[in-house]
Amino acid sequence: MPLPKAELHLHIEGTLEPELAFALAARGGISLPYADADELRRAYSFTDLQSFLDLYYALMAVLRTEDDFADLADAYLERAAEQGVRHAEIFFDPQAHTARGVDIGTVIEGLSRALDAGRERHGISTQLIMCFLRDESAQSALDTFEAAKPYLSRISAVGLDSAEVGNPPSKFREVYERAAAEGLRRVAHAGEEGPPAYIWEALDVLGVERVDHGLRSLEDPELVARLVRDRIPLTLCPLSNVRLRCIDRIEDHPLRAMLDAGLLATVNSDDPAYFGGYAGDNYDAVRAALGLDDETLRGLARNSFEAAFLDGDEALRARYLAEVEAYVFD
Ligand SMILES: [Zn+2]
Repeated sequence: MPLPKAELHLHIEGTLEPELAFALAARGGISLPYADADELRRAYSFTDLQSFLDLYYALMAVLRTEDDFADLADAYLERAAEQGVRHAEIFFDPQAHTARGVDIGTVIEGLSRALDAGRERHGISTQLIMCFLRDESAQSALDTFEAAKPYLSRISAVGLDSAEVGNPPSKFREVYERAAAEGLRRVAHAGEEGPPAYIWEALDVLGVERVDHGLRSLEDPELVARLVRDRIPLTLCPLSNVRLRCIDRIEDHPLRAMLDAGLLATVNSDDPAYFGGYAGDNYDAVRAALGLDDETLRGLARNSFEAAFLDGDEALRARYLAEVEAYVFD
């Protein structure tokens, strides 16, 4: 039995496995520029950010109907459950779909259908986080937020993702203010490739409660002090960092140093179909590469539930934390 954990940094579009891409393409009458799932899987072994993004956006063409989004989310939950995920807070990128003519309601209703069934089918509680593409305009984010208004009861937080450098958090101040006014929680990708200054902006301008990645936090001791003081969680994604060349080798990952500094670090999978593994695979990778002992892994799992947006259900959080404490490593 795997260690129970929460996954807090997961792009649902990044869970599209080659076999499912082909199945959805066949159902939708869409032809993919690959002979079969094996050839597509070879294309997944890209070597840089641009080849990843090219493939990632090209494959989104297979996601068109509510059923497509529901099947995508259900397939993720099945794999996540096998790796011990008990709670997942899942990102989606509405602009990547509305730009292709897919209605935002189709996306949200389809994902919600699978997530609502996830507790019973896979034993996983879930929340949905709507992300804005930071390389699109601030106005596009505002338009997306307005289009999502009828569905806000299904969304617990807003986030910010895609190409970071040159697109600082402050660009999205207004849409984050609107989200806060609607009672939504706030997170943002910051400090993945961008500088610590972007993490400060995410905290002070956007009011985020959790920083996605925050990989470069240790470069700024004052920032570390702030993150530690306010118990701001970081959602790290070690295998992603290596595949996207944010770090050269997983042995160079700052996770251990972050824990030693008192940061509330968590381990997550980001885009698992593309980056070489799901949540449990990321735990296994850092355990092996950084020599983490069982109690350090237990601490990471504890952090994941402490960092989760479960405050509507503290009894559930307490139950998950008790599962973590009771876990016996083999
Ligand atoms: Zn991400």
